[in-house]
Amino acid sequence: MENTGTFENAQAQLEKAMGHIEISDDAKKVLKRPIEIIEVSIPVRMDSGELEVYSGYRVHYNNSRGPYKGGIRYHPDVSLDEIKALSIWMTFKCALVNIPFGGAKGGITVNPKQLSNQELERLRRRYIDAIYEFIGPNTDIPAPDVYTNEIIMGWMADEYNKIDRGINPGVITGKPLTLGGSQGRDTATGKGGFYILNKAAQMLDMNPPDTTVAIQGFGNVGYNIARFLHNEGYNIVAISDSRGGIYHPHGIDPDIAMDIKKKDGMIDEYICSGTVCAVMKAEQISPGKCHCKEIKQITNEQLLELDVDILIPAALENQITGNNAENIKARLIVELANGPITQDADVILNHKGVFLIPDILANAGGVTVSYFEWVQNRTGFYWSQEEVFEKLEIIMLREFRNVYEIKEKEQVDMRTAAYILALKRISETIGARGTREYFRKANRG
Ligand code: NAD
Repeated sequence: MENTGTFENAQAQLEKAMGHIEISDDAKKVLKRPIEIIEVSIPVRMDSGELEVYSGYRVHYNNSRGPYKGGIRYHPDVSLDEIKALSIWMTFKCALVNIPFGGAKGGITVNPKQLSNQELERLRRRYIDAIYEFIGPNTDIPAPDVYTNEIIMGWMADEYNKIDRGINPGVITGKPLTLGGSQGRDTATGKGGFYILNKAAQMLDMNPPDTTVAIQGFGNVGYNIARFLHNEGYNIVAISDSRGGIYHPHGIDPDIAMDIKKKDGMIDEYICSGTVCAVMKAEQISPGKCHCKEIKQITNEQLLELDVDILIPAALENQITGNNAENIKARLIVELANGPITQDADVILNHKGVFLIPDILANAGGVTVSYFEWVQNRTGFYWSQEEVFEKLEIIMLREFRNVYEIKEKEQVDMRTAAYILALKRISETIGARGTREYFRKANRG
């Protein structure tokens, strides 16, 4: 999927919210562009002895509210345009959940599936070497994103500490527990999304066993929300990954699907093709409920347009556009991916009356628990998973309520309401340092 125009999309969302709130011209000017863009070349020795050079980025969008915070993405489609957009969303997400961070994002243009583990480790360490002076526990704290996991975050923290000749666990979040990670960080984005989805479903009178859900992207975020929803009784009827998806009207058990995916490398492996083996695999997905003929292999595009109650985009940007928005049938969309819906699609979905929970709210559970990890690293006192989730639920539901209240009061959609709230908080912080208006008044005595 082409990613150009993603920054424009993010800016348009911000512009729209600016039309609904009085903020100083100073704040408007500051928030229209990133503070700093770091672009690096990363030379890596391949196992073959060849040298490959990769492009890497780190964009510092705004740090008015605290140190920069944002994930590092490894994907073949990573571009500066995309990273700039993701850094805007991080800025507003952190303000929306009211944690003391600014917004940043990083990425490397690479297909990690084509590299060996040794090559991947060298690439990730060289990336940290290249951006070392721009990150730190008090300045910029990278986090996980697409095609990372806790081992990878641990390598990057280790590299920073080697160069720094110190022990700074708070420089990177999403680390393994044994290197100062937080309980619950690995499942936090799915968990936070689950709290909000469940609340919204209650408001829409959806009863979990009668509620069908389709999830695009069966990685960290997609898999974890699938587990939480499945345990609550929701009927997950479709899931997909980069290679395609499956649809099963009688429900998919996410843990069995993940086991098969890990074993076979892809989730559409167990599609019913008439062989006993495939039937047995289908039987594994929904024990005792296998209606073999009803299991279908679907494309990612088809998944989005399924006749389901809830749709969860949990893969990449620009998946629902002006071309397919009209065909979306879900009543509730929860954006766990960043930027999966373009501005023109937003207009169509709002017109259709879809209840849409925007990314900066729906997937903020990840950065919230990253913040908890950083707090624990700084105090050296570690919390149980129960404490982490208890604190996470309070924040997610509080900000959901705040956004909903603004939506009702201002008669705007949920995305605009979320931006209004975040914008208010960021502009207050910018204003607290003195605006043009303030200095004018000061000069008048
Ligand atoms: P991941 O790498 O664990 O999983 C990504 C999944 O998307 C994989 O299953 C992959 O196969 C699939 N995918 C890739 N390209 C696809 C395509 N074109 N169509 C359909 N599926 C595709 O990544 P993740 O951490 O789960 O992140 C997913 C999304 O959630 C991203 O947009 C990310 O920015 C966002 N997000 C992640 C976190 C976090 O804590 N990991 C926090 C906030 C937001």
